[in-house]
Amino acid sequence: MTGTYDWNPMPHKVDILCPQCNELAVFEFAELVRIKLKKDIPFFQDSDLFEYHTFSDSCGHKWHAAIYFAGLHGSSVNAISDLPENYKPDHWAHSKYLTRSNETYLGSYACPACKTNNKHTLQWPEDAYYSIEHKGKVLWAFNRESATDLYDFLNGSTRKVDNFKWQHFLLHIPTVFKTAKARDSVVKKLAKLLET
Ligand SMILES: [Zn+2]
Repeated sequence: MTGTYDWNPMPHKVDILCPQCNELAVFEFAELVRIKLKKDIPFFQDSDLFEYHTFSDSCGHKWHAAIYFAGLHGSSVNAISDLPENYKPDHWAHSKYLTRSNETYLGSYACPACKTNNKHTLQWPEDAYYSIEHKGKVLWAFNRESATDLYDFLNGSTRKVDNFKWQHFLLHIPTVFKTAKARDSVVKKLAKLLET
């Protein structure tokens, strides 16, 4: 069973279970820029740097996109040059937090354990590294920092989230994990996860 609580906006990078070796890997979202003019499509189709995709909007209109996987290029847009007119490398620079829609779960992951650096389509929260189960429900965090906040919050006596960096995230944690009854067991599982 998967958790269905809010997970937008997401950070640009999240910790996942490496699809190759199941150790901790870092997933980085790819950034997508709309190609406005038909004449620009061949450039992106032929480019080794970009992936060209077409999508349909909610009215069924097709649109074209150039996708750049910064995670395959040192998390930077410096690899981009010689673009068609009216495009700038910065257009593919990420905003730190972004509300994601279905077509933008594309990205790449880097795994320090098995040294894999590959494209990956994120499945969330299934891919989450910091994830535990409690009474058939999944509790997850984006990364070690938010998992630590989650641990400290549930382990503490206060119900106030104001002092936490990830307070917005903490506000969305379902009550089932926060009840006095659940806290003990949830905190223990989180502690074990954070030990590694
Ligand atoms: Zn790995």
